[in-house]
Amino acid sequence: SPTLVWIRRDLRLSDHAALVAAVERGGPVIPVVLRDASVEGLGAAPKWRLGLGLETYAEALEAKGSRLILRSGDARDVIPALVRETGAGAVYWQRAYDPASVARDSDVKAALKEQGIEAKSFAGHLMFEPWTVETKQGEYYKVYTPFWKSVRDRDVPVPLSAPSSLPAPDHWPDSEALADWDLAMAMDRGADVVRPFVQLGEQAAQTRLGAFMATKVADYDRTRDIPGVDGTSNLSENLSLGEISPAQCWHAGQRAMQDGKPGAETFLKELVWREFAYHLMWHTPRILSSNWREDWDAFPWNEDADSAEVTAWKQGRTGIRFVDAAMREMYVTGRMHNRGRMIVASYLTKHLMCHWKIGMDWFDHCLIDWDPASNAMGWQWSAGSGPDATPYFRVFNPVTQLDKFDKDRDYVSRWIAEEYSDPHKDALSYFDAIPRSWGLSAGDTYPDPVVGPDEGRKRALSAYENRDF
Ligand code: FAD
Repeated sequence: SPTLVWIRRDLRLSDHAALVAAVERGGPVIPVVLRDASVEGLGAAPKWRLGLGLETYAEALEAKGSRLILRSGDARDVIPALVRETGAGAVYWQRAYDPASVARDSDVKAALKEQGIEAKSFAGHLMFEPWTVETKQGEYYKVYTPFWKSVRDRDVPVPLSAPSSLPAPDHWPDSEALADWDLAMAMDRGADVVRPFVQLGEQAAQTRLGAFMATKVADYDRTRDIPGVDGTSNLSENLSLGEISPAQCWHAGQRAMQDGKPGAETFLKELVWREFAYHLMWHTPRILSSNWREDWDAFPWNEDADSAEVTAWKQGRTGIRFVDAAMREMYVTGRMHNRGRMIVASYLTKHLMCHWKIGMDWFDHCLIDWDPASNAMGWQWSAGSGPDATPYFRVFNPVTQLDKFDKDRDYVSRWIAEEYSDPHKDALSYFDAIPRSWGLSAGDTYPDPVVGPDEGRKRALSAYENRDF
């Protein structure tokens, strides 16, 4: 009988345990993707990027003699119905770890078992599944460094090869058309401006990894913090949709370490930050929606997402160059350098005293590398409300940060056009990407700071010191 392989955020053929197991089971393999609440609930850019990813993935499946079947609806109904329709004897998938997916998957598993159908989930989105890492006291980790020490010497299974072909059924079940899913509909910014920055699909991801290992990883520990240098792997976009597996990145990093490349260990540590984010989300799902440290509930956050200050922040018009450059980078490329993410998050939550959720929601809307766990952890880390967070009183000064990390102003001049006689093409493309209703143009004067570095710092610290929480 056929095996349904339920594809979610794992748009690859290699290192895909569920696909390999389906081929080994014998019989036809039917890959299926659902447009369910987990897809409907995505922000504009992640949804658009998913649409592009699915298109490429369907082509990759076709090259193996297979197809991607698309269906809409709740998995609890659609998967059992598709099993009946195709006569499938088994359903395989790769595990997800966010609370809504976990609840959905366990319901589906129970329903299939009741039908007498084999239902099996596999690891792959993570190397160190959250329940496999614990402290000596049998608890989960709240601090990164001991988490890293406890996993760094583990054996990560060697990545699996892609199946050479995927056996097709005699009759394919009907599929909806991807175009009808309208995944690009909410993308209210110039998608044609963002598109050239996207590197789509498994092959592109492998090429990115190879290029990073050949030319960048050696210096990664020195260059990864400099946003004007393209010194990082840029793989977050592909990891987010599973176009590459973390284990594939890990093994490449291990080889680079054996080759004596000094930056390789730092790269492995960053991959483990991603694992740590999932560890926290799994053990404390509240990290996605409320202050991880509950005493922060009493902090006097500004929660007005439509205030003039928040609008200036979203539009890259705060008058603070490091912040504005980073916000525009995200708007144009769908991604933002990690140093930029830390600076804009610190400015929003400390200088502007806005709730971190406002920032997280805007990132959910804008990022093509959106990841539920890393985004929530990054925001709570920056705000000071998370586990192992930067303390609230550590307020980044976005002006001195610029002297430290963008000495020659490569980053700022790439992304800010106003008042430059010969602006960079990327800085100009920002004005092609933004909605007309924002009423901005490259010829505008650059704004004065909405809240200056010292003023904001003083205000934030005094709110913190006077806190009654
Ligand atoms: P590299 O430097 O090449 O690192 C390799 C991989 O390690 C990354 O692709 C990523 O998977 C992982 N990684 C690196 N740094 C981190 C980190 N700090 N936390 C978790 N994983 C990390 N990352 C996302 O993938 N999606 C998000 O939605 C996201 N939101 C963030 C929000 C804030 C406020 C902050 C401070 C950070 C956020 N990050 C997020 C983490 C980090 O900024 C990005 O992973 C990184 O910039 C991606 O670039 P890269 O692929 O070139 O990373």
